[in-house]
Amino acid sequence: MKPSRFQYHRPRSVTEAIEVKHEHDLDAAFLAGGQSLMPILNMRLARPEVLIDLNWVTELDGVQEVDDGWVKLGAMTRHAAVECDATIAAGCPLVTEALSNVAHPVIRNRGTVGGSAAHADVAAELPTALVALGGRIVAQGPDGTRVIDAADFFQFHFTTSLDTTELVTALMVPRLDPSSGYAFLEISRRHGDFALASVAMTLTDGVARMAFGGVSSRPVFVESAEEDPATDAVAAVSEVGITDDLSASRAYRTRLIATLARRARAVALARMNDGVDGD
Ligand SMILES: Cc1cc2nc3c(=O)[nH]c(=O)nc-3n(C[C@H](O)[C@H](O)[C@H](O)COP(=O)(O)OP(=O)(O)OC[C@H]3O[C@@H](n4cnc5c(N)ncnc54)[C@H](O)[C@@H]3O)c2cc1C
Repeated sequence: MKPSRFQYHRPRSVTEAIEVKHEHDLDAAFLAGGQSLMPILNMRLARPEVLIDLNWVTELDGVQEVDDGWVKLGAMTRHAAVECDATIAAGCPLVTEALSNVAHPVIRNRGTVGGSAAHADVAAELPTALVALGGRIVAQGPDGTRVIDAADFFQFHFTTSLDTTELVTALMVPRLDPSSGYAFLEISRRHGDFALASVAMTLTDGVARMAFGGVSSRPVFVESAEEDPATDAVAAVSEVGITDDLSASRAYRTRLIATLARRARAVALARMNDGVDGD
């Protein structure tokens, strides 16, 4: 199918993009990599009257180290660019690992980090990693800029705390303490499919900070100081509600949560020990 008719805008700046969005509000949609939006438009699941193409807003592109232990990912930075970025690999390796699980290279070449956050698929890897890391989302609208903790940003299936006229301008990722371990693991039917269950974890001084994707209505954060974090993980996700659908039963997802928690801790611990040995 073809999308229904729409007006096409090609802003050159964030200010211009927000002005157009403010003018048309819910009748307008931002177009980033188009990897999720274009199928939705083609199937006419959404019929925005106005498309605001962000691909010419160059100020939204790029990875930048900021002073106080954070790395800033411009919203229009492609998944593939972040995955291959040396600064990210050195300072935020959990993000590199998470992105390598997103779909396939051709999709990562177009898909953007801002689009992934705004789209808020509960099975998407980057939102899960951001919640585990305590990352932040920078949003700009007609009333100014605000910074939202990832844990507050992702609210429900395809639902965020963004206002209808706000644009995601950047994601902020804290640099990982070099003494910490990390792991991103997921279970999907085939490599590149959306996860039936995923976990992003950092391990610092025996405390695992993790988030689970694909198992609930949003990425769920869990902190556990237990050597076996499975019980804490299952309890925390159960509190939000474990998904039961055609892809996997609640009982199966419960087992995946427990198994992924244990495996991720083992991988994170092994990486910490590698660091201590100086290998
Ligand atoms: C076959 C296939 C498999 C996939 N598998 C995976 C997978 O395994 N894991 C995964 O995480 N993703 C997967 N994806 C989705 C892919 O990662 C998308 O790139 C991502 O979900 C959206 O990014 P985008 O830049 O393409 O956004 P778009 O599709 O352009 O936009 C998505 C939504 O976000 C809004 N939006 C975009 N940018 C902004 C912004 N800066 N501010 C505010 N709103 C904005 C748009 O208006 C739209 O509503 C898959 C896609 C396909 C086609």
